[in-house]
Amino acid sequence: MSHSNISIFVPHKGCPNDCSFCNQRAISGQMTSATPKDVEDAVETAIKYKVDPKNTEIAFFGGSFTAIKREDMLSLLTAAKHFLDIYKFKGIRISTRPDCINEDILSILKNYGVTAIELGAQSMNDDVLLANHRGHTADDVRDASKLIKEYGFELGLQMMTGLYKSDFQKDEQTALEIIEIKPDTVRIYPTVVLKNTHLGYLQEMGEYIAPTAEDSASFCAKLLQMFEKENIKVIKLGLHSSETVESDMIGGAYHPAFRELCEGEIYLTKILEKLSAKDKNQQYVIYVNKKVLSKAKGQQKRNEKALKNQGFHCIIKGKENLEEFQIEVTETI
Ligand code: SF4
Repeated sequence: MSHSNISIFVPHKGCPNDCSFCNQRAISGQMTSATPKDVEDAVETAIKYKVDPKNTEIAFFGGSFTAIKREDMLSLLTAAKHFLDIYKFKGIRISTRPDCINEDILSILKNYGVTAIELGAQSMNDDVLLANHRGHTADDVRDASKLIKEYGFELGLQMMTGLYKSDFQKDEQTALEIIEIKPDTVRIYPTVVLKNTHLGYLQEMGEYIAPTAEDSASFCAKLLQMFEKENIKVIKLGLHSSETVESDMIGGAYHPAFRELCEGEIYLTKILEKLSAKDKNQQYVIYVNKKVLSKAKGQQKRNEKALKNQGFHCIIKGKENLEEFQIEVTETI
């Protein structure tokens, strides 16, 4: 049975910050703040559509949940806990800033049935955090993560790639430091430049160019493999597609199927590894699990084209009983 979330967005509400990349209203796609009624509506809609409560979390996303006015946070938690008890949902998930976690807040979250906490780490490089007006340090991420684990919550960390004053080397270092913290889950967001943000201004001034989706895909494919190798689940890769992001984006790495783009890159790398010692005068059939055939071929068959450009004559075919990312190569006669 697959896992799902009932998502309630808390856009920018109460957030003490103004991060360089953030326009929460654009990201969450709504202008007003969430209310207990929104929790009720979201839950009742999910129940009507027959979600399986034991595999479903009530999730507050979008802003900094623990930084909103205490009475608002408590009223949202009260509503969520009410439905948690009635329907026996798997738990409650929240996302917040690393500097908005302390023992007092964690005790409250525990009492209201919160099970998973995600922190926006974004970078583990203090210069990058400063340049992007994050208002917290890498140590804040380490300290908050430690406390969250001590209290027995599931820990999620979110990181961004391609921020102002960062580069893929610094981003890789961030990933390594996140791995050291050992979170349960990670979300990777390549930077998307939105209208009315500081990054938008820097871009306009010619001070900053965010990497494109194509530039970011092979790098994020590498990060994906680094985390998975350590058994850290990457639960999100790229911003979710929404009309508001599409209409407000003015640069950076937005792609509606970014994860697929990254997974396509992994297939290309693995296929090239398999072909590296092979004779380019031969023709080959590359077999992958038939469920992932389109990913292995790449979007608009870009992997097939890339293989051809490198001098290999091959076709990619689907086959039963192969693992994800398992590749078999045979020569055609
Ligand atoms: S802390 Fe989060 S909600 Fe606040 S400005 Fe930064 S990204 Fe946006």
